[in-house]
Amino acid sequence: MGKRESKIIKSISEVNQMNILITGGAGYIASHLTKQLLEDSTYNITILDNLSTGYIDTITTLKSIRDFEFVDMDLKEFDKISNFLKSSNFDIIFHFGAYILVEESISNPLKYYMNNTVNTTNLINCAINSGVKKFVFSSTATLYGDVENIPKDGLNEDLPTNPINPYGTSKLMSEQVLIDSAKANSDFRFVIFRYFNVAGADIYYNENGELSPRFGQRLKNATHLIKVASQSALGIRDKMAIFGDDYDTIDGSGVRDYIHVDDLASAHIKAIDYLDNISNPSDIFNIGYGKGFSVKEVISTMKSVSGVDFRVDMEGRRDGDPAILIANNSKIKAKMSWQPKYDDLELICKSAYEWERSR
Ligand code: UDP
Repeated sequence: MGKRESKIIKSISEVNQMNILITGGAGYIASHLTKQLLEDSTYNITILDNLSTGYIDTITTLKSIRDFEFVDMDLKEFDKISNFLKSSNFDIIFHFGAYILVEESISNPLKYYMNNTVNTTNLINCAINSGVKKFVFSSTATLYGDVENIPKDGLNEDLPTNPINPYGTSKLMSEQVLIDSAKANSDFRFVIFRYFNVAGADIYYNENGELSPRFGQRLKNATHLIKVASQSALGIRDKMAIFGDDYDTIDGSGVRDYIHVDDLASAHIKAIDYLDNISNPSDIFNIGYGKGFSVKEVISTMKSVSGVDFRVDMEGRRDGDPAILIANNSKIKAKMSWQPKYDDLELICKSAYEWERSR
C-alpha cells in the first residue's frame, strides 16, 4: 500500500471513530473495559475520574497500551460536568463512577445517595442536554434483595426489585431515572447491566508465560470475599471470617455468582453493538455465569490456588446480605450474543491472588 492510500485509510478510520466517555475509568471494572477498548483503534476514549478511589498509575498503565484523554473531574461538580459534556461530542457514555460497599452504604447512606443517585441523575441530564444518545449504566444484582422463591434457572430481569441496603436502593433509583428519561427522550437509549459478583484480575501473561495481571481490584477498604481471601492467603490480613453459616444453602454459607472482570468488561463492548442497532430497545441485562459458589467453596478454592491454609473464623450474618444471588443470563446471551471466556473459579481466584501478590 502506498503512503497516500494509507493516509486516506487512516483519515477515514478517524472520521468513523466512536467517541466514548468512561466515568470512573481509573477504577476496577472500568479499567478492564478500557484495556479492551484500547485494543480497537476505532474507539476514541476519554476517561473521567476524580481519583477518589481510582489511581493515577492505573491511567498510566492504560496509556501504555494506547494514549487517550484523561479528565480529572468530580461528578458532583455539576457546572463543570455540564460544560465538559457540551464541549465534547460523545456517542456513548459508560457510567461506572460509584461507591460500591454494602456495609458502608448502611452506615453512611447519604454518601451513596449523593453520588450513586444524585450525581448520576445530573450526568444523565447533562448527557441528554448535550445530545449523547447512548448510555450504559453499571447497576447491581443486590437490588433483587432476598428473593423468596428463587427460580430454578436463576434470577431473571423480570423479578421484582426489593433492595435491602442503601447501595442497592441508590442504584435502583438511578435505573428509574434512566428509564423515565429514555421514555421522554425517544432518541436517548440505555443498557443497564445488573452485575452479580465481579472478581478476579486482568488475564495477562508475561514473557515467561506467567499470569501477571496489570489491573485488578485496588479499593483500600474492600470487603469483597475474593479480595479478602487473597489478602488472607498473602498474610496481608492475619485472618478472615465467614459471615453466617445458617443460611438455607448447600453448606449454610452465602452463595453468589462470581464472574471474572474481563468477561464482565466484554459484555460492555457487546452493549456498543447492541445500541448501534437502532431497532434494539433500551433494556436491562443481568450478568453473571448462572451458577453459584458458597463462601466456604470460594475460601477452599483460594486456599488451594495459593497453597496457604489461612485462618478463617465463623461470624454471624452481615447486615444487608441476601442468602443466594445467582443470575439467569439467558437474556444477555440471546440478545447480545455475549459468551464468557473465564468461567472458572480457580482462574478467578488465581488471578485475584496474583494481582494482590504483585502489589
Ligand atoms: N463474605 C464473607 N466474608 C468476607 C466477605 C464476604 O463471608 O470477609 C460473604 C458475604 O457475606 C457474602 C459473600 O461473601 O455472602 C459475597 O460478599 P461480597 O462482599 O464479596 O459481595 P456482595 O455479594 O456483598 O456484593
